[in-house]
Amino acid sequence: MNNIKVVKAEQLKSKPDANSLGFGKYFTDHMLVMDYSADQQWHDLRIVPYGPISLDPSAMVFHYGQEVFEGMKAYKTADGNISLFRPDMNLKRLNASCERISIPQVDPEVLLEGIVQLVNLEREWIPEGEESSLYIRPFIIATEACLGVRAAKEYKLLVILSPVGSYYPEGIHPVSIYVEDQYVRAVRGGTGMAKTSGNYASGIKAQEAAKQDGYSQVLWLDGVEKKYIEEVGSMNVFFKIGGEIITPALTGSILAGITRDSVIALLASWGIPVVERQISVEELFEAARQGVLEEAFGTGTAAVISPIGTMKWENEQISIAGGQTGEWSKKLYDSITGIQKGERDDHLGWRHTIS
Ligand SMILES: *Cc1c(COP(=O)(O)O)cnc(C)c1O
Repeated sequence: MNNIKVVKAEQLKSKPDANSLGFGKYFTDHMLVMDYSADQQWHDLRIVPYGPISLDPSAMVFHYGQEVFEGMKAYKTADGNISLFRPDMNLKRLNASCERISIPQVDPEVLLEGIVQLVNLEREWIPEGEESSLYIRPFIIATEACLGVRAAKEYKLLVILSPVGSYYPEGIHPVSIYVEDQYVRAVRGGTGMAKTSGNYASGIKAQEAAKQDGYSQVLWLDGVEKKYIEEVGSMNVFFKIGGEIITPALTGSILAGITRDSVIALLASWGIPVVERQISVEELFEAARQGVLEEAFGTGTAAVISPIGTMKWENEQISIAGGQTGEWSKKLYDSITGIQKGERDDHLGWRHTIS
């Protein structure tokens, strides 16, 4: 498909300093846009200069939050190519989120082709540093001008790109986690399994409070009993207890992370099973008290693997792996980033090479 219209930016921005990228602070020169109307369905896929968009103040997304998003990355590989990591999974999940939020499905092939062309056009923006990449943020918003509470009849899809360094200023050093025992993120039957802004809006208060107390993320418990572990901020979570690797089962309120899936598949390819089951925070802290909680880490596109060094729940604080990066956290981080960057054999066929 080469009929994507391209309107080039008249002036290109100067690239930010590679050492101060941070996460999501800088954006490239162009973006991908596509519109939906009931008559024309999804149409007019195009690349245009990056910049503000104009919306009616009554655009439905502002009032009822009908929105979905994705997060993926493009890497410069060792041989000078560009690769995406399992983009088919992101597009599948985007449509699953659309399904839940009553947004019309997008043709995954059309969107992937658009993303590939956009990334190709912006290839100079892909940073080369060890922990850096070009973050890709597709999202869809309800744009119809109406205050009626119903599914909108008009939407806009955008894809913006941001060169990013390490997600955490601490780098791949262990983070401290606050187990949230007052607020909840999602309940079964809610929208926890969709990647949608509302899940984040409802979590910000807890996140800010945790930050004030010196913790970098919150760990969410189930929304009914506040007993079972769900996930951490924008990451899924894994534990190694007495030699066994465990992650909360996808019960409907947890986001099905692609990094989570990759960790499970990679460990399986090494002959190491991952147990997917419910795990209570009491069981976890008891394991820590007994000295058998050997490792904990979060998984997500932004940070890939984020080792957890300390955790606080009610009045108890535990230290995990002596506050250091655990063996499996390091191995998985090196393997996944190695595959992404083309430095390791892609035995599971995850790299989507652009050129
Ligand atoms: C995006 C996200 C994740 C991680 O998913 P990946 O596909 O691994 O990036 C985990 N939890 C939440 C709530 C998320 O939004």
